[in-house]
Amino acid sequence: MSKILTAKEVRTEIYVYDTLQVDAVRFNDNGNILIADGEEAASCCLNCANPRCMFINEEASQCTKFHDIAGSVDLHMCPSRAISVGERSIEIDKSKCMGCGLCARACPVAAISVVNGKAEVHKYSNEKCIRKLPVTEKAIEEQERFLIECEHIKKQGMILQESDAVMKNIHKYVHFLNQDKQNIFVRNLFILLGNHVTIARKGNVYMRLDGFYQNENGYGILEVETGSDALDVARAILDDIAVLNSRHGISMKDNDPLAVCLYLPNKRTDYWQVVKDIKEVTGIKIRTLTIGALLLMLWNHVELQDFGNFYIDVENTSIRKELERIIGRKIQISIGTDGILESQK
Ligand code: SF4
Ligand code: SF4
Repeated sequence: MSKILTAKEVRTEIYVYDTLQVDAVRFNDNGNILIADGEEAASCCLNCANPRCMFINEEASQCTKFHDIAGSVDLHMCPSRAISVGERSIEIDKSKCMGCGLCARACPVAAISVVNGKAEVHKYSNEKCIRKLPVTEKAIEEQERFLIECEHIKKQGMILQESDAVMKNIHKYVHFLNQDKQNIFVRNLFILLGNHVTIARKGNVYMRLDGFYQNENGYGILEVETGSDALDVARAILDDIAVLNSRHGISMKDNDPLAVCLYLPNKRTDYWQVVKDIKEVTGIKIRTLTIGALLLMLWNHVELQDFGNFYIDVENTSIRKELERIIGRKIQISIGTDGILESQK
């Protein structure tokens, strides 16, 4: 059964904006504002029949290039399962929320803010420009048309201002997630940045890969490491590339692997030398990113489908410069903090 029909059963009403003429969807410190017909209107939760804040787009969780490898069927957006459907809006359980902002970025009308490390929903209370509708197929279709339009509108403002404390707090939560949820978290980050990502279903004894991505620039393996065993990631990537090539016909030459870590490995670990060795011997460039870097792009409404500049090795173990280029400003994270943008010693 589709999510739309399931959701329909638990809601008593949904909302739509009166206008289809939306000029901008803006995030700011005072709450989220939707500018419609040249006027500003407070944004609020539309109690969507197909809530983007709760579920990722199923199509984005499939990579045609890797069609014969089973992917996870878990489409939840929130890594902590803090979001549920309420009668008149979605609800957030603040005791579970880690303040990552995934739900806020996914909401096409900016109805979620992250305040003091917790997501907050702006609930409907007779706002200007908003119509209340009974839950009918027609109303759901109208709401869906409006949401699709809003998804294509450029977002303004920041979802969350980064700081060392904000990052450390999120890291603390990520450690408590089990590996499946950590992988789903990384998948959702990449999907919200504009990629298709599949997280491999557990149980395939021939392959230990965490997942793979695909976008208009190419495709590749995705390995996630939230502990300190990055060297294992480099080795796993080589294994996976060989298996994908020999058993699934996925070209080795075009497979651009990504290693996603919670912390960039320390300078003195072998990881950086091994990444360089792999490049020199095989020509395979393992790009290394962090969950923190992906969050920074998410909060700043950046999209990322070209990972080429995230190749770093023993010669340079920092992604700060590249990230600042993409975001277009200095990042307010102290040098070396939790290995988010550069390796610690
Ligand atoms: S928070 Fe946004 S995406 Fe989620 S149900 Fe409300 S309006 Fe829809
Ligand atoms: S901010 Fe993150 S953890 Fe909190 S409700 Fe949203 S998606 Fe879930």
